[in-house]
Amino acid sequence: MSRATRWMNIFAVSLPFVGVLIAIVLLWNQAVTWFDIAMLVGLYLFSAFGVTIGYHRMLTHGAVQAKPWVKYLFVIAGSTAIEGPALIWAADHRKHHAHTDQEGDPHSPHVGGGEGLRGLWHAHVGWLWSTEIERGWPRKHTPDLLRDKGLVRISKAFPYIAIATLVVPFLAGWAYHGTLMGGLQTYIWAGLVKVFFIHHVTWSVNSICHFSGYRRFDVEDHSRNNPFLAILTLGESWHHNHHAFPRSASHGMRWYEVDLSALVIKAFVKVGLMSKPVYISRERQDAKRIGAQKAAPNAVAAD
Ligand SMILES: [Zn+2]
Ligand SMILES: [Zn+2]
Repeated sequence: MSRATRWMNIFAVSLPFVGVLIAIVLLWNQAVTWFDIAMLVGLYLFSAFGVTIGYHRMLTHGAVQAKPWVKYLFVIAGSTAIEGPALIWAADHRKHHAHTDQEGDPHSPHVGGGEGLRGLWHAHVGWLWSTEIERGWPRKHTPDLLRDKGLVRISKAFPYIAIATLVVPFLAGWAYHGTLMGGLQTYIWAGLVKVFFIHHVTWSVNSICHFSGYRRFDVEDHSRNNPFLAILTLGESWHHNHHAFPRSASHGMRWYEVDLSALVIKAFVKVGLMSKPVYISRERQDAKRIGAQKAAPNAVAAD
């Protein structure tokens, strides 16, 4: 990773943290309105669905197809999470799937960052400024996406989208509250605090969901399904299911594994804006269950 990228990442991680500290003071002084909270929640959902559906399920894994304008809208929404340009994000993530929890995984709590809490820290955020890890490389990991001119354009426009992500809440707050200080207040809540939340929720999938939770399938990694993060991550914390079947449009695979991103995909498919979602049949799931491989030969013998 270049020094410039490293420092840019440190800045992008630290600024929202400073915003949260300011927000705590504002909260103490009751400097928050329902408008600010509504903006925070609305923009959080916009950015988060952009990441889970646009960046992750659609671009990285091809779990569902969409009309070009719908795809680009989701990718622009994902860019507002300020987690980097779509093509770099997808390249990093495909590298993670190619080397999960082994040498070459850019963000595993089990390799490259030490044991226990140190490993967790590395997988959560440390990898973003480690000079030792090798990041994903679009030419190598996402050549298919590089052929999509619209995607390349959106990826290149990432710095401008990132700036707009912070300017829009300020302008909306200024218009609503009628003062510059009001604009600043909304900027803190719906700009910086929102980015802080979405950063750490996304990174929790990289760290906690390779550390704590339950397993169902016979896959050689440390991925876990974590129920506590299911709502905030909009379904991405069924991460073990996802590693078992990366192309599935739904990461939740039982009725109790709530997956809000999968529900949104279903709604978009229903109205014809998305198509060809990939779902994994119960038979395929059962064949991959822990213990299924051992049970099969016995079953044959019994016949
Ligand atoms: Zn993973
Ligand atoms: Zn994935």
